Amino acid sequence: MSAVPADTTALDLGEITLTFVPDGELRADPAVAYPAGHEDIFTDGLDVVDEDGMLLLSIGAILVTAGTSRVLVDVGIGDRRIPLIRPGASRDGYMGGGALLRNLSALGVEPEQIDTILLTHLHADHVGWIGDGDATFPNAEYWVGEGEWQYWIRPENSGGPVGPRPNELEIIGSRRRRLVDGAEPVDGITAVDTAGHTPGHFGFAVRGTNACAFVVGDALHCPAEALRPDLAWVGDVDGGAAIRTRRNIAAHVRDTGAVLVGPHFPNAVFMEYSSSGLIPFATT
Ligand SMILES: [Zn+2]
Repeated sequence: MSAVPADTTALDLGEITLTFVPDGELRADPAVAYPAGHEDIFTDGLDVVDEDGMLLLSIGAILVTAGTSRVLVDVGIGDRRIPLIRPGASRDGYMGGGALLRNLSALGVEPEQIDTILLTHLHADHVGWIGDGDATFPNAEYWVGEGEWQYWIRPENSGGPVGPRPNELEIIGSRRRRLVDGAEPVDGITAVDTAGHTPGHFGFAVRGTNACAFVVGDALHCPAEALRPDLAWVGDVDGGAAIRTRRNIAAHVRDTGAVLVGPHFPNAVFMEYSSSGLIPFATT
C-alpha cells in the first residue's frame, strides 16, 4: 500500500458536520521533512509515503456546517505549485493545489455562503484561497491568533514562499477577528492554543450532540506524529513547544475520545486511537 491524498469525506458529530474538502497535496523527501530522523514514520503500520517513497500530505480545508452557518477551517494553497527544495536533499518536493472551490461547489457550497474562516495559522498552504485582488469569500470574517498575525506582518517574515502573500494579509486584516485560547468563535467550536509549529497556531475542539472532534491544523502533519510526538518537523518555528503541543493533543484526544482531524493526513483525515495504534475513524 502507498499513501494517496484524502478524498472529500464527511464526519457527522450530531447537529454539526465536518467535511474535508481537498485542494491538493504536498510531497517531500522524508529525510527533509524530519531532519532529526524519520525512521519512526515507518514503524506503526501507517501508510504515509507514496509509491516513490515520498512523504505525502493532503492539502485542503475543513468545512463546518452548523445550523445555517458555513465555516471553513483554513482555505488550502490555491491554484499554484510551490517547489520544496532543500540543499543536499536527494529529491525535490512540492506542494500544490487548485481544487478547493470546485470541490466546495460539488458539495453545494458557494464562496458567498462562507460566513466564518478560522485560520489555524498563516502558512501558504492554509491561506492560498483568501483572494488574489478581491476576497474569494466576500462575506467571511477571518479569525487568527494574535501571535500569528504579529509574526507574519513583521517585515523580516513577510514575503517568503511559505508565508502569506501581501494581498492575503491585506484581505485578512480588513475583517480580522482575534482568536483567544478557550474562546468560542462559532457555537460548538472552541479555539485551543497549539503554538509551536508557528507562534500563534490554534487548533479547534468541535462539539456535536453525539461526538466531538479536534482539528489539529499543522500541530500534526503526519499521523505518525500522533503516536510519536517527538518526531520533529522541519518547519516548526519552536521545536520544543511543537513537541509539547503534540503530546498535549495526543493526551486530550485519548482522554476525551475526540476524533482526531488531521487536514494534512494522507488517505483519511479523520482518525481515532485504538488498541492497535491509530486507525481511520469510520465515517458514513
Ligand atoms: Zn500546512
